[in-house]
Amino acid sequence: MIIVLKQEAKTEDVARIEKTIEEKGLQVHVSKGENQTIMGLIGDTTKVDPESIEVDPAVEKVMHVSELYKLANRAFHPEDSVIDVGGVKIGGGHLAVIAGPCSVESKEQVIEIAKAAKAAGANLLRGGAFKPRTSPYAFQGMGSAGLDILVAAKEATGLPIVSELMDAEYLDEFIEKVDLIQIGARNMQNFDLLKKVGKATKKPILLKRGLSATFQEWIMSAEYIMASGNPNVILCERGVRTFESYTRNTLDLQAVPVIKELTHLPIIIDPSHAGGKWWLVNPMAKAAVAAGCDGLMIEVHNNPEKALCDGPQSLKPAKFEQLMKELKPIADAVGKEI
Ligand code: PEP
Ligand code: MN
Repeated sequence: MIIVLKQEAKTEDVARIEKTIEEKGLQVHVSKGENQTIMGLIGDTTKVDPESIEVDPAVEKVMHVSELYKLANRAFHPEDSVIDVGGVKIGGGHLAVIAGPCSVESKEQVIEIAKAAKAAGANLLRGGAFKPRTSPYAFQGMGSAGLDILVAAKEATGLPIVSELMDAEYLDEFIEKVDLIQIGARNMQNFDLLKKVGKATKKPILLKRGLSATFQEWIMSAEYIMASGNPNVILCERGVRTFESYTRNTLDLQAVPVIKELTHLPIIIDPSHAGGKWWLVNPMAKAAVAAGCDGLMIEVHNNPEKALCDGPQSLKPAKFEQLMKELKPIADAVGKEI
């Protein structure tokens, strides 16, 4: 249920209504927009008689929210959420580009890529230290030592860092070292992990879409993090499984307008894991920006032929630089600052 207040409603009106609702054992989420204040009710709304709220002179209308997700729901927060990641804004009119290798392999590798990515205009650096690999025999990542390399690259370039957390055991370390904590596609429905992350920190979380997750399932996972106390969730579409096997996954660009319709959360696109081929990254990244996404995550490697993970989908720095140049006029056309 949401209560839309009249434009002239005052702080004391909000407090009065909030008190009435809380006395019935519900939680109230207040969203103050430029023109309107909205109160979102969470809990057993059968305890609230909409008519008794509607008679309040500060109330414009009371609406029922049928979706299972509340905090992520656009109805609860009509304006776009803008999330600050170590000083870089994502959402609203801000388009952020996250670039870097799939995996952290060495300090030299990460620093070289980070410098090239920054020079080309990237805003954040990515790198996997704990890798979710299909095979137990494949490179599993450098672990904590990899996180320290990312921290060194951040010191060298000033770029905030993004890395994937797979196990709550490392949560404190991630909170200390990483600016944007990634929950990967495979863990999107690891509800225990989502609850722990939401409870332990308000650091921004990048929640990737599960391999075959519906929009509703994906948004409900964001809701888990938000309901546990962390409102700073950024969604990332990274391709979904389809019958097609020529590409690694199929990029669902409809995710951009759908997520924007249903939620207020920023959505970024990862064309690297979607297509699995480096030459698909440029056209899909441009299409994503044209569709209105809030950011991109792009794998960049200085020596993709020798990469320990995901070389075939990684751009060389020169190709990344070229892409950044091509993105600028598209971002301008959709009113996004890159
Ligand atoms: C990654 O970003 O390195 C990754 C493993 O992505 P995903 O979870 O989307 O497969
Ligand atoms: Mn990868």
